[in-house]
Amino acid sequence: MRQEFPHTLVRQAYDRCEHRCECTNPNCDHDADKYGRCTQMLRWGAWEEENDSPDSWEPHLIDPDRPPYISNICLLCTNCSQHAATQPG
Ligand SMILES: [Zn+2]
Ligand SMILES: [Zn+2]
Repeated sequence: MRQEFPHTLVRQAYDRCEHRCECTNPNCDHDADKYGRCTQMLRWGAWEEENDSPDSWEPHLIDPDRPPYISNICLLCTNCSQHAATQPG
């Protein structure tokens, strides 16, 4: 099921993350910078497209029981999204 996110909210998050994947999961297999954060760049607009290009990405709820707002969403590249989706729970 695809969560609906307000466009303006995703835009805010996109500016916040400096157009880079926000995944800091140490168990993820992404290429990490020295802080452990994924180095994948995100292309604006790709989140609304139905494709699996490397710079595609999705907004995710950090706490799924709460509504989408700026501190409760993170932007994950396709690779990290798939990893997050396979976590139990
Ligand atoms: Zn990533
Ligand atoms: Zn990751």
